[in-house]
Amino acid sequence: YVGKRRGKGTFVAYGQDAAGGYDDATLPALLAEALSAEPAASGLDVHYQPVVRISDGRREAVEALARWNHPVIGPVPTPVFVAVAEATGLIGRLDDFVLDRACHDLAGYLAAHGGDVSVHVNISASRLGQPDVELAADDCLSRHALAPRHLVLEVTESAPIADPEAAVRSAKRLRSKGIRLALDDFGAGYSTLALLRRLPLDIVKLDRSLTDLPDATPGGLSPEALCRAMLWIADEMGVMVVAEGVETAEQVAALTRMGCRYAQGYRYGRPEPFASLFSAEAASSGEGALSGEAGL
Ligand code: C2E
Ligand code: MG
Ligand code: MG
Ligand code: MG
Repeated sequence: YVGKRRGKGTFVAYGQDAAGGYDDATLPALLAEALSAEPAASGLDVHYQPVVRISDGRREAVEALARWNHPVIGPVPTPVFVAVAEATGLIGRLDDFVLDRACHDLAGYLAAHGGDVSVHVNISASRLGQPDVELAADDCLSRHALAPRHLVLEVTESAPIADPEAAVRSAKRLRSKGIRLALDDFGAGYSTLALLRRLPLDIVKLDRSLTDLPDATPGGLSPEALCRAMLWIADEMGVMVVAEGVETAEQVAALTRMGCRYAQGYRYGRPEPFASLFSAEAASSGEGALSGEAGL
């Protein structure tokens, strides 16, 4: 297992949080079944979390995050079923389900309201370098008549990439089509600095462990120092930086001080269904625009 699963204990902790009584052994079969069923019956769903510009809270994008509320066993935490999908080879189908829903939802929104909002979709790093991910992205964009600049693919280096050369070629092809690429969870993965040098990127997302400044362990290199260094490197590379897991005003102040311009986290909004994200915004702004600025 790869991804957010960091040992057996992780599953126990998630199990205690979850309302339902799922059991590890049955998840692969249930997930395979869900991916073949109609979404309405499978309990598979997509929630969205805003990515904002810190200076004025403008919504630059929304990140699509897979959700699974199984009709019988109840909600399964995302890191749990994503790890199952990675381990069982179902990840491509899960990613494609989310990609399709995300393009559908955003295309519908843009058709009605216009604007420059984009959608971030997570893809397994194991797929970068395989032609199917490019085909899936192309197909999805054309079916929903969505311009490539509205799509950002997020890749987490949760395990060493099997064929880095192929991954780099794949990244170049995606970007030449106008699809943007983000390196997710930077600072939490494997050989991320090496990858950063080779992968052509548009966005780097700083992992929560780097932006969780107040809880820094004393001694050694502080998260703030790492964060500062990363912002400097990103600037040199000309990539946009998004701080993940921003929850407090203190974090916002520290990030602003360091020159970080974009953030995502509970402070700016939790993941929620597309429709409620939209209605909350409509209620607060009176305009119903996903983007914080009118007429963009
Ligand atoms: P991620 O891509 O880094 O997504 C951010 C995760 O952090 C989400 O967890 C989100 O709910 C959580 N989060 C956001 N803001 C905060 C905050 O302020 N504080 C805290 N404590 N957490 C915050 P989620 O939805 O459980 O997803 C976990 C991971 O699962 C994602 O991490 C991503 O790596 C993976 N994932 C989710 N959906 C997909 C998918 O469709 N395909 C693939 N391949 N992976 C996915
Ligand atoms: Mg992500
Ligand atoms: Mg992330
Ligand atoms: Mg993360």
